Amino acid sequence: MSSRQITVIANWKANLPPSEEVALAKAIAEELGSALKVKGSPSSLRLLLAPSALGLVPVASLLRREYPEAGIDVAAQDVSLSSAGAFTGEIPAEHFVGIAPAIIVGHSERRRDRGESDEAVGVKLARVVAAGLAPVLCLGDNLPSADIAARVDFVQAQCAAAFAAAERAGCNATQLYAAGLVIAYEPVWAIGTGNPASVEIAEAIASGLRSALNREELPVLYGGSVDAASAATWFGTPSARTGLDGLLVGGASLHADRFVAIVRAALAVTEPA
Ligand code: PEP
Repeated sequence: MSSRQITVIANWKANLPPSEEVALAKAIAEELGSALKVKGSPSSLRLLLAPSALGLVPVASLLRREYPEAGIDVAAQDVSLSSAGAFTGEIPAEHFVGIAPAIIVGHSERRRDRGESDEAVGVKLARVVAAGLAPVLCLGDNLPSADIAARVDFVQAQCAAAFAAAERAGCNATQLYAAGLVIAYEPVWAIGTGNPASVEIAEAIASGLRSALNREELPVLYGGSVDAASAATWFGTPSARTGLDGLLVGGASLHADRFVAIVRAALAVTEPA
Protein backbone atom coordinates (compact mmCIF):
# COMPACT_ATOMS: atom_id res chain seq x y z
CA MET A 1 0.00 0.00 0.00
CA SER A 2 1.43 3.35 -1.05
CA SER A 3 1.29 6.18 1.45
CA ARG A 4 1.55 8.88 -1.21
CA GLN A 5 -1.17 11.47 -0.79
CA ILE A 6 -3.77 11.68 -3.57
CA THR A 7 -4.98 15.11 -4.71
CA VAL A 8 -8.18 15.54 -6.70
CA ILE A 9 -8.97 19.00 -8.02
CA ALA A 10 -12.21 20.15 -9.67
CA ASN A 11 -11.58 22.96 -12.16
CA TRP A 12 -14.91 24.65 -12.80
CA LYS A 13 -13.37 27.29 -15.09
CA ALA A 14 -15.88 30.03 -16.03
CA ASN A 15 -18.80 27.66 -16.49
CA LEU A 16 -21.08 28.66 -13.64
CA PRO A 17 -22.19 31.82 -11.82
CA PRO A 18 -21.26 31.88 -8.12
CA SER A 19 -24.76 30.85 -6.95
CA GLU A 20 -24.55 27.65 -9.04
CA GLU A 21 -20.99 27.00 -7.85
CA VAL A 22 -22.25 27.15 -4.26
CA ALA A 23 -25.07 24.74 -5.13
CA LEU A 24 -22.59 22.35 -6.79
CA ALA A 25 -20.21 22.47 -3.82
CA LYS A 26 -23.16 21.73 -1.54
CA ALA A 27 -24.23 18.75 -3.65
CA ILE A 28 -20.68 17.33 -3.67
CA ALA A 29 -20.23 17.86 0.07
CA GLU A 30 -23.58 16.23 0.83
CA GLU A 31 -22.93 13.22 -1.39
CA LEU A 32 -19.51 12.68 0.13
CA GLY A 33 -20.63 13.29 3.70
CA SER A 34 -17.75 12.30 5.91
CA ALA A 35 -16.45 9.67 3.46
CA LEU A 36 -13.05 11.33 3.20
CA LYS A 37 -12.52 11.27 6.93
CA VAL A 38 -14.05 7.85 7.49
CA LYS A 39 -12.10 6.06 4.75
CA GLY A 40 -8.91 8.02 4.34
CA SER A 41 -6.54 9.23 6.98
CA PRO A 42 -6.77 13.04 7.16
CA SER A 43 -3.82 13.42 4.83
CA SER A 44 -4.31 10.57 2.40
CA LEU A 45 -6.78 12.32 0.06
CA ARG A 46 -6.84 16.05 -0.58
CA LEU A 47 -9.93 17.34 -2.35
CA LEU A 48 -9.95 20.85 -3.78
CA LEU A 49 -12.73 22.66 -5.64
CA ALA A 50 -11.61 25.50 -7.93
CA PRO A 51 -14.56 27.80 -8.55
CA SER A 52 -14.37 31.08 -10.45
CA ALA A 53 -12.77 34.04 -8.68
CA LEU A 54 -16.24 35.29 -7.71
CA GLY A 55 -17.25 31.89 -6.37
CA LEU A 56 -14.19 31.29 -4.21
CA VAL A 57 -15.31 33.14 -1.10
CA PRO A 58 -18.90 31.87 -1.01
CA VAL A 59 -17.82 28.28 -1.78
CA ALA A 60 -15.02 28.37 0.82
CA SER A 61 -17.41 29.85 3.41
CA LEU A 62 -20.05 27.22 2.69
CA LEU A 63 -17.57 24.36 3.03
CA ARG A 64 -16.03 25.68 6.23
CA ARG A 65 -19.29 26.70 7.88
CA GLU A 66 -21.66 23.91 6.88
CA TYR A 67 -19.45 20.96 5.91
CA PRO A 68 -16.33 21.06 8.06
CA GLU A 69 -16.52 17.26 8.36
CA ALA A 70 -16.31 16.82 4.58
CA GLY A 71 -12.62 17.80 4.48
CA ILE A 72 -12.97 19.68 1.18
CA ASP A 73 -11.07 22.91 0.46
CA VAL A 74 -10.83 25.35 -2.43
CA ALA A 75 -8.17 26.35 -4.95
CA ALA A 76 -7.97 29.43 -7.15
CA GLN A 77 -7.85 28.97 -10.94
CA ASP A 78 -5.28 31.67 -11.61
CA VAL A 79 -3.43 34.58 -10.04
CA SER A 80 -2.21 37.99 -11.10
CA LEU A 81 1.33 38.69 -12.26
CA SER A 82 1.18 41.81 -10.07
CA SER A 83 1.57 42.19 -6.37
CA ALA A 84 -0.96 44.24 -4.38
CA GLY A 85 -1.32 47.79 -5.58
CA ALA A 86 -2.83 49.99 -8.26
CA PHE A 87 -3.59 47.25 -10.79
CA THR A 88 -7.24 47.53 -11.76
CA GLY A 89 -9.02 44.22 -12.06
CA GLU A 90 -6.13 42.07 -10.83
CA ILE A 91 -6.19 39.59 -7.93
CA PRO A 92 -2.73 39.33 -6.37
CA ALA A 93 -1.61 36.14 -4.67
CA GLU A 94 -1.58 37.62 -1.19
CA HIS A 95 -5.33 38.32 -1.44
CA PHE A 96 -6.02 34.59 -1.58
CA VAL A 97 -4.44 34.01 1.83
CA GLY A 98 -7.04 32.65 4.24
CA ILE A 99 -9.34 31.83 1.31
CA ALA A 100 -7.57 29.40 -1.04
CA PRO A 101 -4.54 27.39 0.09
CA ALA A 102 -3.61 26.43 -3.48
CA ILE A 103 -3.57 28.24 -6.83
CA ILE A 104 -3.54 26.75 -10.33
CA VAL A 105 -0.87 28.34 -12.52
CA GLY A 106 -0.19 27.93 -16.25
CA HIS A 107 -3.39 26.20 -17.33
CA SER A 108 -3.24 25.57 -21.09
CA GLU A 109 -6.35 27.68 -21.67
CA ARG A 110 -4.50 30.69 -20.27
CA ARG A 111 -1.41 29.88 -22.31
CA ARG A 112 -3.59 29.51 -25.45
CA ASP A 113 -6.15 32.30 -24.92
CA ARG A 114 -4.10 34.85 -23.00
CA GLY A 115 -0.70 34.16 -24.54
CA GLU A 116 0.68 33.29 -21.12
CA SER A 117 4.37 32.47 -21.58
CA ASP A 118 6.64 30.24 -19.49
CA GLU A 119 8.15 33.49 -18.19
CA ALA A 120 4.76 34.67 -16.93
CA VAL A 121 4.04 31.24 -15.46
CA GLY A 122 7.32 31.41 -13.55
CA VAL A 123 6.52 34.85 -12.15
CA LYS A 124 3.12 33.59 -11.03
CA LEU A 125 4.75 30.59 -9.33
CA ALA A 126 7.00 32.97 -7.43
CA ARG A 127 4.05 35.18 -6.43
CA VAL A 128 2.09 32.19 -5.11
CA VAL A 129 5.04 30.93 -3.08
CA ALA A 130 5.84 34.39 -1.70
CA ALA A 131 2.25 34.56 -0.44
CA GLY A 132 2.74 31.27 1.42
CA LEU A 133 0.37 29.33 -0.85
CA ALA A 134 0.84 26.12 -2.84
CA PRO A 135 1.11 26.29 -6.64
CA VAL A 136 -0.46 23.70 -8.93
CA LEU A 137 1.65 24.00 -12.08
CA CYS A 138 -0.07 22.84 -15.29
CA LEU A 139 2.17 21.48 -18.02
CA GLY A 140 1.24 19.70 -21.22
CA ASP A 141 2.23 18.98 -24.77
CA ASN A 142 0.19 19.76 -27.84
CA LEU A 143 1.57 16.76 -29.72
CA PRO A 144 -1.39 14.44 -30.28
CA SER A 145 0.51 11.88 -32.32
CA ALA A 146 4.04 12.16 -30.96
CA ASP A 147 5.81 9.25 -29.35
CA ILE A 148 6.20 9.14 -25.59
CA ALA A 149 9.85 10.22 -25.59
CA ALA A 150 9.02 13.39 -27.54
CA ARG A 151 6.25 14.24 -25.09
CA VAL A 152 8.55 13.67 -22.12
CA ASP A 153 11.17 15.96 -23.70
CA PHE A 154 8.59 18.66 -24.35
CA VAL A 155 7.13 18.64 -20.84
CA GLN A 156 10.56 18.50 -19.19
CA ALA A 157 11.59 21.57 -21.21
CA GLN A 158 8.35 23.38 -20.34
CA CYS A 159 8.89 22.61 -16.67
CA ALA A 160 12.53 23.74 -16.79
CA ALA A 161 11.48 27.03 -18.43
CA ALA A 162 8.87 27.72 -15.74
CA PHE A 163 11.33 26.84 -12.95
CA ALA A 164 14.01 29.09 -14.49
CA ALA A 165 11.54 31.98 -14.75
CA ALA A 166 10.42 31.42 -11.16
CA GLU A 167 14.05 31.53 -10.06
CA ARG A 168 14.58 34.83 -11.91
CA ALA A 169 11.54 36.08 -10.00
CA GLY A 170 13.17 35.09 -6.71
CA CYS A 171 11.81 31.60 -6.08
CA ASN A 172 14.08 28.59 -6.46
CA ALA A 173 13.13 24.93 -6.78
CA THR A 174 13.65 24.26 -3.07
CA GLN A 175 11.18 27.01 -2.24
CA LEU A 176 8.68 25.65 -4.77
CA TYR A 177 8.86 22.20 -3.15
CA ALA A 178 8.63 23.61 0.37
CA ALA A 179 5.47 25.50 -0.65
CA GLY A 180 3.85 22.20 -1.68
CA LEU A 181 4.23 22.39 -5.46
CA VAL A 182 2.03 19.95 -7.35
CA ILE A 183 2.40 19.42 -11.10
CA ALA A 184 -0.59 18.59 -13.29
CA TYR A 185 0.22 16.96 -16.62
CA GLU A 186 -2.58 18.09 -18.90
CA PRO A 187 -1.95 17.35 -22.58
CA VAL A 188 -3.67 20.03 -24.64
CA TRP A 189 -5.09 17.47 -27.05
CA ALA A 190 -6.83 15.65 -24.18
CA ILE A 191 -8.53 18.60 -22.48
CA GLY A 192 -12.25 18.72 -23.13
CA THR A 193 -11.97 16.38 -26.12
CA GLY A 194 -13.26 13.14 -24.63
CA ASN A 195 -9.91 11.65 -25.66
CA PRO A 196 -7.79 11.15 -22.53
CA ALA A 197 -4.11 10.26 -22.61
CA SER A 198 -3.21 6.73 -21.59
CA VAL A 199 -2.01 5.95 -18.09
CA GLU A 200 1.24 4.82 -19.73
CA ILE A 201 1.84 8.29 -21.22
CA ALA A 202 0.96 10.11 -18.00
CA GLU A 203 3.19 7.80 -15.93
CA ALA A 204 6.08 8.34 -18.37
CA ILE A 205 5.68 12.11 -18.01
CA ALA A 206 5.53 11.82 -14.22
CA SER A 207 8.65 9.71 -14.01
CA GLY A 208 10.44 11.91 -16.59
CA LEU A 209 9.74 15.00 -14.51
CA ARG A 210 10.77 13.30 -11.28
CA SER A 211 14.07 12.19 -12.74
CA ALA A 212 14.79 15.52 -14.49
CA LEU A 213 14.18 17.33 -11.20
CA ASN A 214 15.84 14.59 -9.16
CA ARG A 215 12.81 14.52 -6.91
CA GLU A 216 11.17 11.13 -6.53
CA GLU A 217 8.46 12.50 -4.22
CA LEU A 218 7.26 15.18 -6.70
CA PRO A 219 3.45 14.95 -6.83
CA VAL A 220 2.22 14.67 -10.42
CA LEU A 221 -1.48 14.68 -11.30
CA TYR A 222 -3.11 13.92 -14.63
CA GLY A 223 -5.85 16.02 -16.26
CA GLY A 224 -7.68 15.75 -19.57
CA SER A 225 -11.10 14.15 -20.27
CA VAL A 226 -11.17 12.12 -17.07
CA ASP A 227 -14.62 10.78 -16.31
CA ALA A 228 -16.25 8.56 -13.72
CA ALA A 229 -16.15 5.41 -15.85
CA SER A 230 -12.37 5.51 -16.29
CA ALA A 231 -11.42 7.14 -12.99
CA ALA A 232 -10.18 3.96 -11.32
CA THR A 233 -7.60 3.32 -14.05
CA TRP A 234 -5.75 6.51 -13.06
CA PHE A 235 -5.26 5.30 -9.49
CA GLY A 236 -4.60 1.57 -9.87
CA THR A 237 -5.27 -0.62 -6.86
CA PRO A 238 -4.38 -0.22 -3.17
CA SER A 239 -1.47 -2.64 -3.56
CA ALA A 240 -0.43 -1.46 -7.03
CA ARG A 241 -0.98 2.26 -7.35
CA THR A 242 -0.10 3.96 -10.62
CA GLY A 243 2.76 6.46 -10.70
CA LEU A 244 0.26 9.32 -10.53
CA ASP A 245 -0.77 11.27 -7.45
CA GLY A 246 -4.24 12.32 -8.47
CA LEU A 247 -6.37 14.11 -11.02
CA LEU A 248 -7.32 17.57 -12.21
CA VAL A 249 -10.86 17.28 -13.53
CA GLY A 250 -12.67 19.78 -15.74
CA GLY A 251 -15.97 18.87 -17.44
CA ALA A 252 -16.87 15.90 -15.24
CA SER A 253 -16.44 18.00 -12.10
CA LEU A 254 -19.44 20.15 -13.13
CA HIS A 255 -21.71 17.19 -12.29
CA ALA A 256 -21.83 16.23 -8.63
CA ASP A 257 -22.53 12.55 -9.30
CA ARG A 258 -19.71 12.14 -11.85
CA PHE A 259 -17.23 14.03 -9.72
CA VAL A 260 -18.13 12.14 -6.56
CA ALA A 261 -17.64 8.86 -8.44
CA ILE A 262 -14.12 10.01 -9.34
CA VAL A 263 -13.43 10.91 -5.70
CA ARG A 264 -14.71 7.50 -4.61
CA ALA A 265 -12.30 5.85 -7.05
CA ALA A 266 -9.51 7.77 -5.33
CA LEU A 267 -10.81 6.78 -1.91
CA ALA A 268 -10.74 3.13 -2.96
CA VAL A 269 -6.93 3.22 -3.06
CA THR A 270 -6.30 5.32 0.04
CA GLU A 271 -5.38 3.87 3.36
CA PRO A 272 -8.16 3.36 5.88
CA ALA A 273 -8.15 5.70 8.88
C1 PEP B 1 -8.87 20.94 -17.55
O1 PEP B 1 -9.18 21.82 -18.35
O2 PEP B 1 -8.07 21.18 -16.62
C2 PEP B 1 -9.44 19.63 -17.73
C3 PEP B 1 -8.83 18.60 -17.19
O3 PEP B 1 -10.60 19.57 -18.46
P1 PEP B 1 -11.42 18.25 -18.88
O4 PEP B 1 -11.47 17.32 -17.72
O5 PEP B 1 -12.79 18.78 -19.24
O6 PEP B 1 -10.72 17.66 -20.05
